[in-house]
Amino acid sequence: MAMFFELSEEQMEINRLARDFTNEEILPVASKYDEEEEFPVDVMDKLRECGLFNLAVPEIYGGPGVDKMTHSLIVEQIARGCAGIATSVEANSLASYPILVGASEELKKKYLHRITYEGQYASFALTEPGAGSDVAGLSTTAERKGDHYILNGDKCFITNASYANYFVVLAKEKGAENKFTAFIVDRDLDGVLIGKKEKKMGLRASNTASVTFEEVAVPVCNRIGNEGDGFKIFMKALSYARPMVGAQAVGIAQGAYDAALAYAKERKQFGKAISQFQSIQFMLADMSMNIEAARLLVHKAVYLLAKGKPSAVNSSYAKCFAADTAMEVASDAVQIFGGNGYIREYPAEKYLRDAKIMQIYEGTNQIQRVVIAKEILA
Ligand SMILES: Cc1cc2nc3c(=O)[nH]c(=O)nc-3n(C[C@H](O)[C@H](O)[C@H](O)COP(=O)(O)OP(=O)(O)OC[C@H]3O[C@@H](n4cnc5c(N)ncnc54)[C@H](O)[C@@H]3O)c2cc1C
Repeated sequence: MAMFFELSEEQMEINRLARDFTNEEILPVASKYDEEEEFPVDVMDKLRECGLFNLAVPEIYGGPGVDKMTHSLIVEQIARGCAGIATSVEANSLASYPILVGASEELKKKYLHRITYEGQYASFALTEPGAGSDVAGLSTTAERKGDHYILNGDKCFITNASYANYFVVLAKEKGAENKFTAFIVDRDLDGVLIGKKEKKMGLRASNTASVTFEEVAVPVCNRIGNEGDGFKIFMKALSYARPMVGAQAVGIAQGAYDAALAYAKERKQFGKAISQFQSIQFMLADMSMNIEAARLLVHKAVYLLAKGKPSAVNSSYAKCFAADTAMEVASDAVQIFGGNGYIREYPAEKYLRDAKIMQIYEGTNQIQRVVIAKEILA
């Protein structure tokens, strides 16, 4: 398959816009939001104003209508500044995918317009206390009663839950073993209860909370696709989303590497900059090489998305390798910073804390390897 490595003029221009935004609006406040564990509403608003939000949403529904490569470039840039902010931005994308993949035109217009034109937030609500990796083990139920479905169940670790105006939810038909259906559930319906915000190791600018559905009456018209199509819709949504997690991981790695490189040139020991020591040079060389490899895997997965051929295995390669790279690079960045790497006043330790979640959410790296192994052994 032919792949081209050059970006178009437009892609380069938007990349520069996202790069400058990150340098001017995110890097200077990243440690403040991390330290205060505060949701960065003002940064979110500015990202919306600059067209760097709702990145998965086509122009016809009020989104910026950027191509998949541009989407990944923007995500990488934002994550280079703060992965907590990138995750918060991408929560709207994540919630958009099941709608774009499976919803009726009417539903698409209604709910995508709310996040684009009305400035609302949406959450993707899949994980449950008893069902993380084992999605099919979920126990949220939906029971049809006339022109409504009655939803009952608990979702946990939901990004942006405290701010979301609606939730895109996967539930199981009550009494049926494996019949999953997807729904859009408005936050203000009776019985939608938001739990308290989680305190996290990293991604502290992002909001994470649980959501409980207690006898929630969801109108039939808020069903995404047909009854029983929900699992397929959510899995397809994840193959769109996973390369973008890879892009976030590349952004974290790039940010950690940039900081470590600058520090290595400045910090002097034994009368010279530590960048003069071969052990530091080799660490920097490996970091740079692995970032490049991770970025290429992300770009290949994104290229396939853009071609309309989302590939589960390529999405898994990209997400898994980039997440492992982010962890390794961020850990080496801490090492290059020496004692200062362990101190919160310096940027390295935040990159390491943020990198860890890349190996866990949207399918752990073990689950990505399960996907890859299945493909190899098929
Ligand atoms: C900050 C944060 C934000 C999140 N945002 C969202 C969100 O917006 N929406 C949402 O729905 N979810 C979200 N999640 C949930 C996240 O996707 C899950 O935590 C993740 O999928 C793992 O599920 P689990 O925590 O139940 O781990 P488990 O599934 O219990 O896994 C525990 C361990 O067992 C391993 N394991 C499990 N099964 C297998 C297997 N078959 N083979 C090999 N190893 C296995 C896992 O890899 C892991 O190491 C978020 C989580 C966090 C922490």
